[in-house]
Amino acid sequence: MACCLIGCGSNQGARREQLDRAIELLGVMPGITMRTVSRHRETRPIGGPPDQAPFLNGACLVETELGPHELLGVLAAVENTLHRDRTERWGPRTLDLDILLYDQLVLDDSIVAGAALTIPHPRMSTRRFVLEPAVEIAPDLRHPLSGGSLRELLDNISHPHLHVAVVGVPGAGAAEVAGAIADATLARLVHAPRALPWKPSRSGVAATEPWSDALSASAAALETASWPDDPHGTVTDYWLGTLLVAAEDALAPSALERFQADYGAASARTVAPHVAILLRASPEALAERLACHAAGREQATNLFAELGSPGSDPTAGLVRLQERLLTRLRCGTRGGDGPLAVVVVGADDLGRAIDEAIAAVEATG
Ligand code: ATP
Ligand code: CA
Ligand code: CA
Ligand code: CA
Repeated sequence: MACCLIGCGSNQGARREQLDRAIELLGVMPGITMRTVSRHRETRPIGGPPDQAPFLNGACLVETELGPHELLGVLAAVENTLHRDRTERWGPRTLDLDILLYDQLVLDDSIVAGAALTIPHPRMSTRRFVLEPAVEIAPDLRHPLSGGSLRELLDNISHPHLHVAVVGVPGAGAAEVAGAIADATLARLVHAPRALPWKPSRSGVAATEPWSDALSASAAALETASWPDDPHGTVTDYWLGTLLVAAEDALAPSALERFQADYGAASARTVAPHVAILLRASPEALAERLACHAAGREQATNLFAELGSPGSDPTAGLVRLQERLLTRLRCGTRGGDGPLAVVVVGADDLGRAIDEAIAAVEATG
């Protein structure tokens, strides 16, 4: 038996009746026992086409003998019974049922019979309309990746001065995305004061100086002592932890040890982000942006520092760093000092990345 948290929403038709009917249908399905149902709350629509009607959102806890993909199939069947239209992404819907948590299972984009499934739900940790009803019925349930309870996840996005870090390797588009979020939310924008020192000098051993310089400059811009109380929050286009993750790959062991100690001291004086938006670009897109940069067509000159010695493959280095950032950020507070809320956004299409990032941040409000 698995204990499973399901998110429910509707913004088309008889919303309350449809949600009630969905709960009733779920409960009579073989292999599913309905345990707890939250009350429905009205929320404003986020993302998708403009001028959508407001939502009713809720959550329920079920016990189930079904596997995660079987359960997803049942949710889709219930949605279909209530005439769910799937033509437009984030468009109006009579009923939406999402698997938020399935015990402590972690499933990453697993595709069975054409249906993709990611558990925990990849966008839940910044969504107030998901977390509020979830906390009502299961405040102590844990998010298996971040390690936070649902109550902690909700408290995290409720901070009076939200700090959102847009995280990406050089070329992923962090500056553009952070700028767009700041424009949309009126947040204060902080740019990375230094490019990532990145890679080895020609001898193959990186000099430590650019790393300590980057660390002090990057930490100075995030100092707790000079952090304003702006209720619109702050968006940064970097995460201090990126320096640590990149240094682990670039510095020799003894230099790395010193850097780690400096990092610990510097980060203790900074305001850590509550939310990370991690941009993930394909190797092809990164290679193309690197080539543009090399040809002098890239305007943002600060994006790329020295990218590796001649003969090494800079794209491979970026891809490796990107994957290591993903691994580090996804484990939230369990693996160290990562933010509790992490949303991964595809960065090949920057326009779409901007829309998704803005939606993720607006969902906190
Ligand atoms: P969002 O996922 O951002 O809440 P949405 O609910 O509007 O958006 P849908 O159009 O309902 O998105 O679903 C698109 C696809 O997402 C589904 O066909 C399903 O295969 C996939 N999916 C992946 N993970 C989950 C999950 N945890 N719960 C439900 N559907 C999921
Ligand atoms: Ca049943
Ligand atoms: Ca949904
Ligand atoms: Ca859905």
